[in-house]
Amino acid sequence: MSSVSLRSYAKLNLFIKVLRKRPDNFHDLETIFERISLYDDIRLTSNSTGKIKIICSHPQVPKGPKNLVYKVAQMLQKRFGITKGVTITIKKNIPVAAGLAGGSSNGATTLLGLNKIWELKLSQKELVEIGAQVGSDVAFFLYNSSWALGEGRGERITPLPIKAKFWHVVVVPRLKMYSKDVFTRLNLRLTKKGADVNILTLALKGNSPLKAGDLLHNDLETSILSIRPELLRVKNRLRKYSFCGVAFSGSGPACYGLAPTEKIARAAAADLRKHYARAFAVCTF
Ligand code: ATP
Repeated sequence: MSSVSLRSYAKLNLFIKVLRKRPDNFHDLETIFERISLYDDIRLTSNSTGKIKIICSHPQVPKGPKNLVYKVAQMLQKRFGITKGVTITIKKNIPVAAGLAGGSSNGATTLLGLNKIWELKLSQKELVEIGAQVGSDVAFFLYNSSWALGEGRGERITPLPIKAKFWHVVVVPRLKMYSKDVFTRLNLRLTKKGADVNILTLALKGNSPLKAGDLLHNDLETSILSIRPELLRVKNRLRKYSFCGVAFSGSGPACYGLAPTEKIARAAAADLRKHYARAFAVCTF
């Protein structure tokens, strides 16, 4: 096999608690990941030139070594002495730098794909160890699980046996947010001490969007809003719909509503598209 086509899914964070700043300047987190039905298409074609080539028409996606898919391919070549190269074609549907981990997901998908077409036979444990070196959010996408608890920088994954399939409306305003700035601005003394990941996990296990909606939590919100106060308008607009809860994903600017039904999600997304070009109805995948 010299080619493979794969889907690379996005995530939402239903919960982010920042526990502490670490000596390496990263933060230890507790987060709940949900894989959602928004995806990029990735095609990998092995070549004998040894070169890594990225084809992507999205202007914000790097085409060289800064792309996480490039990093993954290069890391595998070096570590295992691979002389083959690969052409990676990315059809981008996931908004870039949005808090939806599109880049990390592409990295994970490339890792899984190259494991096949370069016949590396790496175990999941090895894949996770390599993925964690590429980015904190990569590991989640290597587990083939819709739900997971993330700890450490987010790279220590415990898949959660949750059957819930929720509907959301995700709105991605066109403004730039850098995760680094959001974490730099974070004031850990102002974060909510009471938020409890176990209570949300129970609500998710009980398949209750109403209870889960009430328990959505993101410690980064104050920092996100201090950098981009206009995002409060987006959140308040989402609050006008009959969602069970509204929150930011990751370090933003993606903001989502947890909908009680698919019908409500689809109607709200159609309505929100009058104001935001990037409003999507998505479900757990
Ligand atoms: P996270 O939720 O993990 O913080 P994000 O959704 O905020 O991720 P990404 O879409 O992963 O952000 O992109 C962040 C940056 O990574 C972009 O500005 C882009 O330059 C770079 N990047 C590297 N590889 C990719 C890729 N394959 N797709 C998109 N962006 C990429």
